[in-house]
Amino acid sequence: MNEKYLPFLDESQIWSIIEQEQKPDPARVKEILAKAKEGKGLELNEVAALLAPIPDDCLADLFQAALDLKEKVYGKRMVLFAPLYVSNLCANSCAYCAFSAQNKDLVRKSLSREEIEEEVKIIERMGHKRILAVYGEHPMWDARAIAESVETIYQVKTEPSGEIRRVNVNSAPLDVDGFALLKQVGIGTYQCFQETYHRETYRKVHLAGKKSDFDWRLYAFHRANDADVDDVGLGVLFGLFDHRFEILAMLRHAQALESAYGAGPHTISFPRIEPAQNSELSTRPPYAIPDDVFKRIIAVVRLALPYTGMIISTREKPELKRELLRLGISQLSAGSRTSPGGYAAAFANRPEAQQFWVGDERELPEIIQDLQLDGYLPSFCTSCYRKGRTGDHFMGFAKTMFIHNYCQPNALLTYYEYLLDYASPQAKEEGARCIMENVRAMPNPRDREVMMERLRRIENGVRDICV
Ligand code: SAM
Ligand code: SF4
Repeated sequence: MNEKYLPFLDESQIWSIIEQEQKPDPARVKEILAKAKEGKGLELNEVAALLAPIPDDCLADLFQAALDLKEKVYGKRMVLFAPLYVSNLCANSCAYCAFSAQNKDLVRKSLSREEIEEEVKIIERMGHKRILAVYGEHPMWDARAIAESVETIYQVKTEPSGEIRRVNVNSAPLDVDGFALLKQVGIGTYQCFQETYHRETYRKVHLAGKKSDFDWRLYAFHRANDADVDDVGLGVLFGLFDHRFEILAMLRHAQALESAYGAGPHTISFPRIEPAQNSELSTRPPYAIPDDVFKRIIAVVRLALPYTGMIISTREKPELKRELLRLGISQLSAGSRTSPGGYAAAFANRPEAQQFWVGDERELPEIIQDLQLDGYLPSFCTSCYRKGRTGDHFMGFAKTMFIHNYCQPNALLTYYEYLLDYASPQAKEEGARCIMENVRAMPNPRDREVMMERLRRIENGVRDICV
């Protein structure tokens, strides 16, 4: 066996950490928060303490620390993307998912090449530059088919500046050769959620199909890294099991990747189970996470992994989303459809084909407006992976806070492109004001000059200036 594929998940060790940290002393909580504020990350026992019951003033401190740290590392920018459901065909039987093979009422749909092109055109005309392509697990959608669909997405160009510059993939785990195919076609992040790190629960909710192999999924990112796909995205499906166990296990996973490959996860996603067609479990999740616990989860993970992108999807409602953004989220999906073909008019509003109910039905312009009102800078940046800042290279940049010097300028440049090419006159005016405020806030006069020069080039028709 490859020496990097070492066992890393010891359930009894995780439980004993949770046990030991059940009632942390407030003084110790303050100490942990002081360390967290320095951006040094946290150990598992410290994370367990922050997830335990703590006094209200400590909780307020915790939330503030998460917010400060996020701004310090990532600035004010908020990266936007659109999911593209390519196929809902699935041979697995996940008890929480509408795409499960058991669900005979779902309208099954796999996009043809032409249909993918149609969907991508619509997404590009919204102004998006980044797509997360999502696939059910099915023999028809092997690594080659996934790779071809990614190529198709990259090939679609529309006027005036429509192109997808980064395709991230969320698919069933592949073998090393399969990941190598994805690498060849230039995928951004490979995402795969473990769903639950608790073996017994995993077994119960994945009774049949390839997905029932817990370890095949657990080591998916090791195989991805072995194929040089070094931007990987972790996740837990919250609601299946005890969130304290899940978070500690997910952080162990992050540590295992860091020690084997020099870089932890590029992103972590936070799906919470939403009601899905014909899934009883999804309507009554055994460990449903209330909003206040969910907020704590986001804040604690932000403190534990200061340099990891944190993603929230269409699943959450706008009011809660707003709070989660403050606490650590750095990327969100916008204007999403969760059924294959959902963007094209002919297939719009087909809940019988979608994966779960979308909690945020705002379209992209409204999301952008709300972000701006809340002081954020919307970003369509896709720069890092195209500039080779991936895996341990990315972590090197992020850890020295240099990401601040990339994310913020790239957000300004890509947002300006969006405003000129896709926004309404009013949004353009408001957006330009937001951009100028951000430029004025740049501490270094030389940086301000350079930025103004780049913005002028964009105004003169140059596109895709990335730093
Ligand atoms: N088939 C691939 C897999 O299972 O990894 C990728 C696609 S699957 C649609 C993507 C993710 O959707 C799953 O990993 C799961 O976490 C999430 N999901 C499934 N059912 C859900 C539900 N009812 N609510 C929220 N998220 C759900
Ligand atoms: Fe299929 Fe993925 Fe849904 Fe499971 S979560 S049923 S593997 S699409």
